[in-house]
Amino acid sequence: MRQRNCPACLGAQQVSLHRQSFVRPGLDQSISYDVVACPDCGCAYATNLPDVTASADYYAGASHHLHAAGLPQGLAEIHEQFFTHITQHAREIETGSAIIDIGAGAGHFLHRFQVRGFTDLTGLDAARAAGAEAARLYGIPVLSTDIAEFVPVREYDLACLCGVLEHLAEPGRVLEAVARRLRPDGLLFVAVPDADQFSKGERIEPFQEFALEHINFFSRASLDRLLGRHGLIPVSYESRYNGFYRNHTLMGLYRKQAQYDGHAPSFSSWQALQDYIAYSRRRLTELEARLRTQIDSGEPIVVWGVGELTMRLLATSRLREANIVGFVDSHPRFHGKRLLGIPVHAPEWLSGQGDVTVWVMSYVYAGEIRAQASHLLSASSRVFTLPDG
Ligand SMILES: [Zn+2]
Repeated sequence: MRQRNCPACLGAQQVSLHRQSFVRPGLDQSISYDVVACPDCGCAYATNLPDVTASADYYAGASHHLHAAGLPQGLAEIHEQFFTHITQHAREIETGSAIIDIGAGAGHFLHRFQVRGFTDLTGLDAARAAGAEAARLYGIPVLSTDIAEFVPVREYDLACLCGVLEHLAEPGRVLEAVARRLRPDGLLFVAVPDADQFSKGERIEPFQEFALEHINFFSRASLDRLLGRHGLIPVSYESRYNGFYRNHTLMGLYRKQAQYDGHAPSFSSWQALQDYIAYSRRRLTELEARLRTQIDSGEPIVVWGVGELTMRLLATSRLREANIVGFVDSHPRFHGKRLLGIPVHAPEWLSGQGDVTVWVMSYVYAGEIRAQASHLLSASSRVFTLPDG
């Protein structure tokens, strides 16, 4: 178990907000972390982390976020929003600018620059498979290395950290390395889930934002505080709702400056997190009410999807009392693993099962899964999706 200080101001004081638990494929015990707020600056984050998260090895072996087979449309749209924000607010960035993307994956975001004629593009990613995928897809160099170990031959005009800071146990270490590699007046673009907006939007999955891999819940104020410690001063912000992920992404552009005057504490995200937790608890209660009849009847069911939602519901709701005869997931990395001793199968397994009842445990992919299930299931099988709020 790993205890943490505030990622924004490094303060050690904490106020507890929530404990989030998960059941993970291949593990018998559920695992948990605590969501806390810093009373010194207002930043919210997870602490008492299970050992499985926040390790370099965890990301080095990860290939699921590379999207080698193709980028979901929703993610491509987000990348386009990032590109637009940068080029609208940083006029000095032009096709000759030196750009580095940290956490580049297979180079999908850098490709947005490439198609506009940018040529000086470099990516870094902890995942070992990233470099080969980026070379194959786009011919963009993505080095499979940690930023701290990267030795650049010159400084960069723009560094990007998209969907990275929310994952890091010690974001200050990466930011120190990034700031050192920027030219004077160089720019940093960051994108994180917007904690001030967690309970805003439509049909939100309860506790979606407390993912196993997300351990920092930043707002504008806590980002400013964190980045300010590394001499990075805000230029522009934008919070955009994305219908695919059903959450808001906070974009921020920062400029490297020698002087840091400090930032006043802000407790907006603390309040937003409390609202979000109350909202999620209500949604979870509704969801359990919806499943209650079938759970109580003991009817055999198949659960489709072993992602974060299922991991959370198995640990924190009555789902674990259901008569689950099998799990199904389309991702091969889960096949052959077990959740609560019950095996995870490929979707094709369903076609040999006769009449079954399937619960689809995904909000984002529900439509897609329903379509796929209709090809595999007998005519009298039943498919349930989760209630939209
Ligand atoms: Zn703090």
